[in-house]
Amino acid sequence: MNIERLIRKNIRKLRPYEARELKCRAKLDANESPFEFPELLSASLDVKTNRYPDPQGTELKKLAARRWKLKTENILLGNGSDELIYYLILTFGGPVMYPTPTFSMYEIIAKATGQKAVGVRLDRDFDLNTERFISAIKKHKPKLIFLSTPNNPTGNCFSSDRIFAISKATSGLVVVDEAYQPFASKNGFVPFLESMENLVIMRTLSKIGFASLRVGFLLSQSSVIEAVNRVRLPFNLNSLSQAVAKEVFKNYKVVMSRIKEIVKERDRLYRELKNLESVTPYPSEANFILFKVRDASRLHRSLLRRGILLRDMTSQVKDSLRVTIGTKEENDLFLNSLKSLVK
Ligand code: PMP
Repeated sequence: MNIERLIRKNIRKLRPYEARELKCRAKLDANESPFEFPELLSASLDVKTNRYPDPQGTELKKLAARRWKLKTENILLGNGSDELIYYLILTFGGPVMYPTPTFSMYEIIAKATGQKAVGVRLDRDFDLNTERFISAIKKHKPKLIFLSTPNNPTGNCFSSDRIFAISKATSGLVVVDEAYQPFASKNGFVPFLESMENLVIMRTLSKIGFASLRVGFLLSQSSVIEAVNRVRLPFNLNSLSQAVAKEVFKNYKVVMSRIKEIVKERDRLYRELKNLESVTPYPSEANFILFKVRDASRLHRSLLRRGILLRDMTSQVKDSLRVTIGTKEENDLFLNSLKSLVK
């Protein structure tokens, strides 16, 4: 039987999102937090495993609403923000527009659902090119524009005035993906939800210590939330994740102190990388650093042989690797190995 022929045409050429499980000493490839919070897990013991989860995630939404000073009607919960990207595209369709390089799931999900995907090249300094974007908007009339800020994999925040200009130029929705906002020095876009009608924000717990829970948040005006809720699967967020996620909001101070530690380590790592002659790091507002280096793919393999796993980004940005900020020890292990390899 020829399964390939049965597959829908737009899926045949699709490549799955690359996420590998490799044994290593320092796992610095997936923008996870190096810190665990075992003290927040006890709430999961009260979960009744025989019952379906709260379909609306009411209590979790209340805590999230308090944190972002919104109403619960402005929030939709997702099984990670990946699921929310999926739901947005399912609800509104394409064309789907995004800058390049950026997080690959916008393109993968658009294509998987049979929608047109349009990438618009970033400037040399990885900021949005407003002119290029606005002419692409006129040409393709996108329903959805995804802007990851800070951007993955480049690490920078896009200029707010450029995001505003793009938002004014489109009659579609602008989805500001704030997965890395907790690590940024500037404020995010939540305060603009009231004044920007076509603004949608995505947040996640994945980068701040809770990737295993798969908890993402869609923040927007209630009519957008209500629309996306029509395609949501009935019990998309399981009870264990809901229970622990509530503890995250109740104990945000301890989470915040780890975020601060990561930011401090990021700035140290950046300075150290900048001091290396053959390495060019890009400034970062996220929990990772992209850097340029000769023979990047070979270096990636050499580091892996020493038990240090980075992400090879050469297919998106020439000669570049992305390193997630780990513990001080992991970062030192990486730095010392890198120094000896690029000498
Ligand atoms: N958005 C961006 C920009 C990301 O980098 C990632 C994770 N790589 C996600 C969303 C997905 O996050 P989640 O774990 O919440 O699905």
